[in-house]
Amino acid sequence: MRIIEHLKNRKRPFVSLEFFPPANDAAMQDFYQAVDRLQAITPLFASVTYGAGGSKQEKTLAVVRQLASMGLCVMSHLTCVNAKVQGLAQYLDHLQEAGVSNVLALRGDPPRDVPWTWNGPFLHAADLVRYIRLQAPEMGIGVAGYPCPHPESPTYGDDRGYTLRKIECGADFVLTQLFFDVREYFELVDWLRQRGCNCPVIPGVMPIQSFASLKRVLSLCGASIPGRLFLQLEEADRSNNGDVARICMDFTVDLISRLLIGGAPGIHLYTLNKSELCLNIVRECGLDR
Ligand code: FAD
Repeated sequence: MRIIEHLKNRKRPFVSLEFFPPANDAAMQDFYQAVDRLQAITPLFASVTYGAGGSKQEKTLAVVRQLASMGLCVMSHLTCVNAKVQGLAQYLDHLQEAGVSNVLALRGDPPRDVPWTWNGPFLHAADLVRYIRLQAPEMGIGVAGYPCPHPESPTYGDDRGYTLRKIECGADFVLTQLFFDVREYFELVDWLRQRGCNCPVIPGVMPIQSFASLKRVLSLCGASIPGRLFLQLEEADRSNNGDVARICMDFTVDLISRLLIGGAPGIHLYTLNKSELCLNIVRECGLDR
């Protein structure tokens, strides 16, 4: 079933979950046990990341196939950077054979370590959305949105305009990049609503685990963090008194509560494949009831 149908039918705020394919076969068993534990919170859907340029494509396919067979509503991420039409068509066929009816249509990032020229038919995620709508019209399509604009965007307006373009090309909903300031999320939603776009905008929530992991995330995604939170975590990390985990949990629970009170339809948790962490967050937010 398409995620947009689940979103229309939902009665209360939901949780959905993002996983990444484990790096090796040895980690698979633990991974599926983690997914199994997380089924207790009846996620609206589960998404699985995809290596840009098609690397590790088989792993994503194997994982989405297995999650679908576990009864989950599944969405495969799919990137178009460096992609060939034939490869995309095949991948979409495989998804349909596996009973996967949803794709997160992404551009992806070019490889960092090799010289790179931008060519081929898919320059932006909007091109992929248009292609999927033609090639597999029954697929549900989500696209990425950026509460804090994508690092390559010159302005907030440009970035939001390109998000709107992806919806106009046929996407059903927006799933956001992680962010640390709820105002950025609500501003993105308002911007879209003012332009007549009423599609669901699902906030992506990344649990912070440690000061080191926070710095790694910030270096990768271009999100901005409130200075006060950064300084508080830096100080707790320096004192090494065990406060970091508590501050991180309190911050995440507060972020989710403010999102839901402000009208977000639910939350998409970047699980980091960690079941305990996510179960604790969901419990503390009262979303397990
Ligand atoms: P686009 O929407 O194409 O945007 C990319 C940039 O181009 C933006 O700056 C945008 O403003 C600009 N732009 C768009 N259209 C135009 C235009 N017509 N003219 C000029 N500029 C334009 N990456 C992975 O490799 N695998 C994953 O599984 C994955 N999952 C993700 C999940 C989520 C929820 C998010 C938010 C990101 C994910 N990413 C993933 C990262 C994503 O691939 C990168 O952020 C990538 O740099 C941009 O992808 P996009 O789909 O937003 O691209």
